[in-house]
Amino acid sequence: MRLILLGPPGAGKGTQAKMLKEQFGVPQISTGDILRQAVKDNTELGIQAKSFMDVGKLVPDEVVIGLIKERIKQDDCEAGFILDGFPRTILQAEKLSETLTEMGLAIDTVVNLEVNAEEVISRLAGRSTCPDCGGMFHEESRPPKVSGVCDGCGGLLAQREDDNAETILKRLDVYQESTAPLKQFYKKQGNLKTVSARGSVEEIFSRVLEMVK
Ligand code: ADP
Ligand code: ZN
Repeated sequence: MRLILLGPPGAGKGTQAKMLKEQFGVPQISTGDILRQAVKDNTELGIQAKSFMDVGKLVPDEVVIGLIKERIKQDDCEAGFILDGFPRTILQAEKLSETLTEMGLAIDTVVNLEVNAEEVISRLAGRSTCPDCGGMFHEESRPPKVSGVCDGCGGLLAQREDDNAETILKRLDVYQESTAPLKQFYKKQGNLKTVSARGSVEEIFSRVLEMVK
């Protein structure tokens, strides 16, 4: 099972990817998570990526392409993977196809999570995540039992630094300009499946499952 989750920031890619990972036992590969971890660890990659992420710009293609190439060749990806946040540009998509072809593999399904810009803004502004286990919460739609505390592991919830009004708008622009064209790219390849990303997490998950079955 080799899946791509496509959609604007705040569409719920990370949440759905985690559920798919549980369901199918294949790793979730999130370039955003990998980059945030690198920033936290203050590695060379992190130092390079931070200046782009802070202002909502994309990290240069060659950096993320290199990351993904290495990652999908690891043993735990043998039975498949769920890509979340990659590819984000046509060049990334082309390089991914090339790499998979070299490995004798291909993407099975691209799930496109559709949601409008207004909804995205309110979702991102209200969201918090657990830095310890990756759990995700939302003020309105998914409040933690105890405010500011992760239900899963008791970690202290934090807002992502790039979830501020200005950076959110920039990320939406970047999505429209650089990432939305991927819908056409995968439509041509015949594996694009679009689902509405409105409703509860469980509702969306059942729509996604329909598409990947
Ligand atoms: P979201 O989809 O909510 O904006 P992500 O966690 O996927 O958040 O990404 C956060 C940031 O990490 C992006 O704004 C970008 O700077 C960087 N990033 C993540 N994935 C990629 C990618 N495939 N190509 C370039 N930059 C990326
Ligand atoms: Zn947690």
